[in-house]
Amino acid sequence: MCGIFGYVGTQTDAASKTLQGLKQLEYRGYDSWGVAVADQGGTDQSGQRIVVEKHVGKIGDAQLTTADITSSLAVGHTRWATHGGVTERNAHPHLSMKNRLAVVHNGIIENFAELKAELLQKGYQFRSETDSEVFVLLVEEELKSAPLVEAVQRVFLRLRGLNAFVLLSLDDQQLVVVRRGSPLALGKAKDGWYVASDASALGLYADQVYYLADNQVAVLEDTGAYLWDAETLQQLPLSWQPLEFQPQDLEKGNYPHFLIKEINEQPDVLQKVGSALEKELISYAKQLSGQPYFVGCGSAYHAALSASYFWPLIVGQTASAIPGSEFRYQRDVLDHNQFVTFISQSGETIDIVEHLPKLTERQVPFGAIVNRVGSSLERGSTHKVLLPAGAEQCVLATKSYTAMVAVLFLLAHQATGSLETGKAQLRRTVTAIQTLLTPHYRTQSILPVAELLTRKDHLFVIGRGNSYPAALEANLKIKEVTYIHAEGFAGGELKHGVIALIEQGTPCLVFAPEGEEYEATISNALELKVRGAQIIGISSKPSAAFDLHIPVDDCGLLSVLAGAVAVQLVAYEMALLLGNDPDKPRNLAKSVTVK
Ligand code: GLU
Repeated sequence: MCGIFGYVGTQTDAASKTLQGLKQLEYRGYDSWGVAVADQGGTDQSGQRIVVEKHVGKIGDAQLTTADITSSLAVGHTRWATHGGVTERNAHPHLSMKNRLAVVHNGIIENFAELKAELLQKGYQFRSETDSEVFVLLVEEELKSAPLVEAVQRVFLRLRGLNAFVLLSLDDQQLVVVRRGSPLALGKAKDGWYVASDASALGLYADQVYYLADNQVAVLEDTGAYLWDAETLQQLPLSWQPLEFQPQDLEKGNYPHFLIKEINEQPDVLQKVGSALEKELISYAKQLSGQPYFVGCGSAYHAALSASYFWPLIVGQTASAIPGSEFRYQRDVLDHNQFVTFISQSGETIDIVEHLPKLTERQVPFGAIVNRVGSSLERGSTHKVLLPAGAEQCVLATKSYTAMVAVLFLLAHQATGSLETGKAQLRRTVTAIQTLLTPHYRTQSILPVAELLTRKDHLFVIGRGNSYPAALEANLKIKEVTYIHAEGFAGGELKHGVIALIEQGTPCLVFAPEGEEYEATISNALELKVRGAQIIGISSKPSAAFDLHIPVDDCGLLSVLAGAVAVQLVAYEMALLLGNDPDKPRNLAKSVTVK
């Protein structure tokens, strides 16, 4: 969470470069933002000062009032607040008492309260309620007895928690960069050095990248970049690698929002899953003997849950799905006979990457299904399948989720030697999804449902078997972007309690693909209907139980993918009808790097 971007180099437009960088990172947090610019035409005795500009709200198309400052050193931040309300004062960067240092921070300093008490006792004053401010004040204190890098090291080693910092020092004309847990990447360009919390934002300017590892500290200045081990201060080589960058991924193109652009990209992405990953799938499936564990968060957890149905249905074996934040309670009893698959779009989700060192320690083998090359999960996994979803800019997972489900489906087939059968089914699904993306389908099938649901306060989504994870994913999509209360349930479960909430007009979306579960699902729908529910069926087969019908072609076990796309479209239209921002829903951020 939170976007960080900084520049130091030979150009004097550091402020606007930083603003442009932050705009690419806003999906990581957007309750407030700010920049600190070293003003080289400043008026204090050393001829320089740090100018800070902060705003509450999204960056959007904002311009900087400080844009014209002549500066070759700047750092900026988009915040996802954890400590202290969403106010201008709490927005980053934070200045030291003497205004010679500015810091931006991602993460949580778990022991900030005791550090703050210590600083208050020494006479330091705080201008914000954040945990972040202790860092910059502690560095100011340490600078009384140590040079900059050592001062940062001393402070960093005192902190508990998972954090990334970029510190701008006016006196040294440097950016000092340090991390444990939260991602940071350095960029090298002809005109200087960059740092960002996501390498995709570096692509605007830099052509080489270095992914900072945990417990490394780097210094960037106009003439070079240097790296140390943060624990020993032993200097390390900085090995740059070429930065792959596709500018079109960062643009909306002809679409009004990233959400609808990325929904429309799904046929292409799924087609790539079926055609370009063969070698990776074959090699990865070899690890999946025994009872595999699948671990993910949010939509990736729903994909993991789909795998826990694919395994019994396709492979004839059980598999477990566990949310990343709950995995620690299972993790420490696993051994080298088990294999864990972590599933993540960003590859930086802290509830996922925190498990990697623990499993390595216990010699439990693991692998990754991940979208972002260069992410901590991707770099930390020997066995992996890279999702071909491209950059996902909308905070809602769409194409990354369907790609995950498709990969897991093909892995299950490969595990039984029937990859070609799985691929043929995926091709049929791609065709089925294409028919959902037409203007005719929108007016006939999506808009009437979206219009009905936006008038409601609550809705339920049910599905049995393989459709249960799809029901959970559908309810998540609707909640995320409409703020309407939605709950997903296994079809048979509602009557064990929650049916008490059904009253006249309560809408229920029902995943009812053809197959063994169809009749039982329709029975569940009727149990709701006779109590007043309005049933919206998602199915290839019409039914008298449906008040409204979203038709999707039958694609066997992958009907859930076509159904998921249909609900993504409904959620998008609902967001527009409600006047919500489909790309940056309230309170959310992509790439959840805090616990
Ligand atoms: N904990 C810090 C704050 O609340 C950083 C949050 C972030 O990562 O954006 O300001």
